[in-house]
Amino acid sequence: MDLSYSAEDIAFRDEVRAYLADNLPKHISDAVREGGEMGKAMIEEWHAILNRKGWLATIWPKEFGGPGWTPVQRHIFEEECCRAYSPRILPFGISMLGPVLQKFGTKEQQDHYLPRILDGTDWWCQGYSEPGAGSDLASLKTRAVREGDEWVINGQKTWTTLGQHADWIFCLCRTDPDAKQQQGISFILVDMKTPGIEVRPIKLIEGGHEVNEVFFTDVRVPYGNLVGEENKGWTIAKYLLTHERTGIAGVGFSMQALEEVKALARKTLRNGKPLIEDPLFAARIAQVEIDLEAMKITNLRMLFKAQSQGAPGPETSILKIKGTVIHQELKDLARRALGPAAAPFPGHVTDGNLMFGPAATAHNAARYFNNRKTSIFGGSNEIQRNILTKTMLEL
Ligand SMILES: Cc1cc2nc3c(=O)[nH]c(=O)nc-3n(C[C@H](O)[C@H](O)[C@H](O)COP(=O)(O)OP(=O)(O)OC[C@H]3O[C@@H](n4cnc5c(N)ncnc54)[C@H](O)[C@@H]3O)c2cc1C
Repeated sequence: MDLSYSAEDIAFRDEVRAYLADNLPKHISDAVREGGEMGKAMIEEWHAILNRKGWLATIWPKEFGGPGWTPVQRHIFEEECCRAYSPRILPFGISMLGPVLQKFGTKEQQDHYLPRILDGTDWWCQGYSEPGAGSDLASLKTRAVREGDEWVINGQKTWTTLGQHADWIFCLCRTDPDAKQQQGISFILVDMKTPGIEVRPIKLIEGGHEVNEVFFTDVRVPYGNLVGEENKGWTIAKYLLTHERTGIAGVGFSMQALEEVKALARKTLRNGKPLIEDPLFAARIAQVEIDLEAMKITNLRMLFKAQSQGAPGPETSILKIKGTVIHQELKDLARRALGPAAAPFPGHVTDGNLMFGPAATAHNAARYFNNRKTSIFGGSNEIQRNILTKTMLEL
């Protein structure tokens, strides 16, 4: 398998690089570089810029408004975006619901919802997890009962990322409590303004508000908000999760983080010498760099395979595990390089922290703690190992 970029790929990379240099606003790239929470306005601004160029929904086929890129082009685009410190495209509408509607939605649903995802009219959130139904998602209890032309929904979702901004939520609901766990679930779209919905914030350890609990009390939505067949939502749920995991490896982000860690370790003095010369620290950097290089190759192998054979398979779990382990190791190394300067939380930036500039803010303790989430969301790494064991090792 030839894993080198073709001449066309390199020309494409140069085009993307030039576009980002001209179009990514500095206040947005500065915010990404400093690693804080992105506000809604900034995310919407960046989505709108990409949408004008036709580069927002990179995984959508052309017929639905995507650019029609190959998996390798999408990878190049992501790598260049990380390099330029552009924000991650929010996945909920673009890479989760979009592909689901394209595969399972009716023509009316596609015509109505897809353009509104692209132009930012609708901000979506994901209503999968519940208290008691995370890894064991199929045991979810939120109940949807059909009454005439409506669903009546009661229950609770949790960990709903950015639900406080959302216009709509896509929900997994139990529609047949007597069927086997996976068989009685349906995929239903719910307008967040519907009476009976309450969103309560969950405050994270570093003080940020990015996740919520969402409560449903006698929430009535049209029956036509069902996607796909009634009681067949589990197939849709699994299809969506494969897409969720594909981008989670974050190769480009880790490449950036590695360079930042090295720069910090060169600046930081321990016992009068740059930290990067400390053999134990240098060995950890070397190990993570080797792992990252190996993951880049694995990622490329999967991309080239997807290019010739279609959708990604369970091997996306490998990328999810390795990608998040590497990213967390880099955050840990950066925190160690910063020493006491890592301690301040946002709003408490001290001279010590400023000394290192934006990269230090991006790696302080608050960001370190926030980053623990990556090995949990999208299905925890332990669950990914179970998937690999069952599907690829045939144990
Ligand atoms: C920051 C953040 C954002 C999130 N955003 C969303 C969102 O927008 N929408 C949404 O629906 N969900 C979201 N989630 C939820 C996420 O998908 C779940 O947290 C995840 O699936 C784990 O479920 P849980 O938290 O219930 O943990 P549990 O399932 O209770 O697991 C607890 C621990 O036990 C381990 N474990 C569980 N079962 C097994 C097993 N069979 N074998 C081995 N180990 C096991 C797990 O790996 C984990 O370490 C988010 C989570 C986080 C942290």
